[in-house]
Amino acid sequence: MISPAELRGMMVKREAGYRRLAVKLKKFNKRTLDDKVHGLHDAFFAKYDCLSCGNCCRSLGPRITTTDIERLARRLKLKAGSFTEQYLRIDEDGDFVFKTMPCPFLGSDNYCSVYDARPRACREYPHTDRVNFYQIIDLSLKNAGVCPVVYEIFSTLQQTES
Ligand code: SF4
Ligand code: SF4
Repeated sequence: MISPAELRGMMVKREAGYRRLAVKLKKFNKRTLDDKVHGLHDAFFAKYDCLSCGNCCRSLGPRITTTDIERLARRLKLKAGSFTEQYLRIDEDGDFVFKTMPCPFLGSDNYCSVYDARPRACREYPHTDRVNFYQIIDLSLKNAGVCPVVYEIFSTLQQTES
C-alpha cells in the first residue's frame, strides 16, 4: 500500500482520472456503490495499520461538536470552557476545530492520547463505510490526497469500473 509520503505526488498524477471516475460513480445505483466501497474499505483497513500513517491527525482539522467538547473535557479532567480556551478555535465555517495541527493529542508514535474520547469526526474518518457514499464522492476525492486507504479505494474502482 502507498505510504503517506508518496500520496501527494501520486494524487497529482491521478487526480484528473479520479475526477472522471467520480463523475461515473455518481451515476451508479446507490446500493451497488455502497456495497463496492464498503467491501473495499473493509479489505484495505484489514491490512493497513493507521499507526504507521497518522496523516489525517497531522493534516486535517476535525470539526468538534459540543458533545465532543464535553467528552474530551471530562477525559482531561477540565471544565468544558477551559478545554475550549486551551485547545480550540472557531474556523471560517463557524465550527470548533483544534487551534494547532498536527493535533495536540497525536503522539510521535501516531497514538491518540484521547483515543477513547476522540471526536466523532475522528471516529468516522475517512467515511468510506458510511451509507449513501454517493453523497460524499467529492469529499472522498479530496481525502484520497490525505488517506492512503481512500486513495487505494479510488485506485481499485478505477481499475474495475473503467
Ligand atoms: S483527537 Fe486523536 S484521532 Fe482525532 S485528530 Fe487528534 S490524535 Fe487524531
Ligand atoms: S484513516 Fe487514513 S489517513 Fe488516517 S491514519 Fe488511517 S490510513 Fe492514515
